[in-house]
Amino acid sequence: HNFIIAIDGYSACGKSTVAKLLASKLNFLFVDSGALYRAVTLFFIENNVESADPYTIQESLNRITLAQTADGLETLTFLNERDVSSVIRQMEVSNRVSKVSALREVRQFIVNKLQEIGRSQNLIMDGRDIGTVVFPNAHLKIFMDARPEVRARRRYAELLAKGEHISLSEIMDNLLLRDRQDTTREESPLVQAHDAYYVDTSDLTEEEVLAVIATRYGE
Ligand code: C5P
Repeated sequence: HNFIIAIDGYSACGKSTVAKLLASKLNFLFVDSGALYRAVTLFFIENNVESADPYTIQESLNRITLAQTADGLETLTFLNERDVSSVIRQMEVSNRVSKVSALREVRQFIVNKLQEIGRSQNLIMDGRDIGTVVFPNAHLKIFMDARPEVRARRRYAELLAKGEHISLSEIMDNLLLRDRQDTTREESPLVQAHDAYYVDTSDLTEEEVLAVIATRYGE
């Protein structure tokens, strides 16, 4: 049977950074589920899908193919065969993604896709509902958290390195807004799985977080 590690938690706690490092150490596939929600959101923005009507949403989803591939330590995300890996990180997408991902049809669409990917290979997947909904039987579940100031500062540095100039307060607002929307939505809200291991990464380096998870993995 294939081995699955689920990493869930709030926005910008370092989930994907740590998941990628761990995946390369274990030689597992890394899957960034948030990137798929972002790709669907980009499609909705570009095609002016504004309605919350289930038929309109489903009809739009039927026109979407998503793919993700690993490229060294990078993960590439494709929307209808176009590489959207960097566009989906833009603020316009970040500001809308939690609304789009709260839609039942969207969640069903992505959850199916994620479960299909997880049927046959060892993987580490990060997201909000991986240990609770997508893979409730995951072998190891981690729930990551960090203080909001720490998260905002880390994201700020990341965006700055990419040449994006966004204020710290705008980033903080976006993180807190997404957390609120993700934890209060009706459809599979963000919640810690009862059997997940809680890690606060605020005062830990990437290597330290990795070591904590590796200890759990070895148990
Ligand atoms: O992981 P990332 O921050 O890129 O995710 C973007 C957004 O996608 C989250 O704020 C959340 O609204 C949504 N998401 C989700 N379920 C997941 C992964 C992401 O609802 N498993």
